[in-house]
Amino acid sequence: MSKTLVIGAGGVSSAAVHKMAMNSDIFSEVTLASRRKFKCDDIAKSVKAKTGVEIKTAEVDAMDVAAVVALIKQSGATLLVNLALPYQDLKLMDACLEAGINYLDTANYEPEDEAKFEYHWQWAYQERFKKAGLTAILGSGFDPGVTSVFATWLKKHKLDTIRQIDVLDCNGGDNGKAFATNFNPEINIREVTADARHWEKGDWVTSPAMTHKVAFDFPGVGEKNMYLMYHEELESMKTHFSEIERARFWMTFGDAYINHVRVLEGIGMTSIEPVMHEGHEIIPLQFLKSVLPDPSDLGELTTGKTCIGDIATGQAKDGSGEKTYYIYNICDHEECYAEVGSQAVSYTTGVPAMIGAAMVVKGIWNEPGVWNMEQLDPDAFMDMLNEHGLPWQVHELDGPVQF
Ligand code: NDP
Repeated sequence: MSKTLVIGAGGVSSAAVHKMAMNSDIFSEVTLASRRKFKCDDIAKSVKAKTGVEIKTAEVDAMDVAAVVALIKQSGATLLVNLALPYQDLKLMDACLEAGINYLDTANYEPEDEAKFEYHWQWAYQERFKKAGLTAILGSGFDPGVTSVFATWLKKHKLDTIRQIDVLDCNGGDNGKAFATNFNPEINIREVTADARHWEKGDWVTSPAMTHKVAFDFPGVGEKNMYLMYHEELESMKTHFSEIERARFWMTFGDAYINHVRVLEGIGMTSIEPVMHEGHEIIPLQFLKSVLPDPSDLGELTTGKTCIGDIATGQAKDGSGEKTYYIYNICDHEECYAEVGSQAVSYTTGVPAMIGAAMVVKGIWNEPGVWNMEQLDPDAFMDMLNEHGLPWQVHELDGPVQF
């Protein structure tokens, strides 16, 4: 009998909670809480209709540690799955420590007034979780998450060392909107407008956002332009695979998306600095979020596929010299919508959140402390990806990437 508390009721949460209900042998009781209860009730209704499973719902402000602790106790949960926003990570980790339960999230902590994607705030909880005998899993989405587990799997089964790694994130989907982000618009735009950064020969190399473009032929999708950008798993992978010489992250964007972001940035709409508007202080990016489509409403409209994975080069385990492998998943937006009512970006994040939670609930990932995904044994997680809607493939390439 397991009890799990999920916080946040957006697109990712909806996909994760549907999948938990489909695996009620692992997740026997789920409570879903967010700052607006009706969002939880809507998800619970859809879960009941699709799976017949009842989940409990509640209202909570994730920034209020005492209220979260009370809810944890009331729900009897032994794991809190944080699918709210990165701003809430530390408060929810505090609540887990106070209530004595395990923690899992999908995105690293960001201070609301600074778009900084760094792990040190959460890594600072290592000793407290260890001492309490509790486990905290950081970044159990697709990227970060599956892309880190892919790297660990390559290192366990194919490569002794990883000399260089490229994470390639392609969304080949189309939702028919002039401009829409496929997960929380505020977090997405903070990410894509930040300087690009990659790890090379022991240092970070910085370049302006969305300037380094490469065309790549993605399996199942076709040729798309991808752009070099910073992503948080670069920091954790270069830390935990200390031999890595170069680590880069690429994401595809269409020309229309890039043009919209440039115009919005040019006129100050992506700024996180407060401005006065008719006597009230507002944050332009938060205002922009409120006029953009809600990603959790895009499922019905989105067609096409995503393809996300890693290309890694290093010394082969069998002593045959340097080898390069491409490991990836292809996911279809319409199939995701038919199964759980979400588009593929919510699905590819929500399913790994469910699987990471299952690893904790089943006691497979139970080492006390704070862990990034690449630090944990990948095998059971990789098996569950194949069983629960995110099958992966691995192919040897002729040689290292030439871009
Ligand atoms: P949404 O904005 O759709 O959902 C966030 C939810 O959190 C909303 O229901 C929101 O409430 C709720 N929330 C926000 N603040 C609070 C609060 N103070 N207390 C309680 N609930 C709160 O986001 P997504 O579903 O798109 O993304 C969820 C998370 O997943 C984000 O952290 C995002 O960065 C991460 N992510 C990770 C990916 C990965 O691959 N690792 C990929 C994509 C996303 P309300 O509905 O009232 O606004």
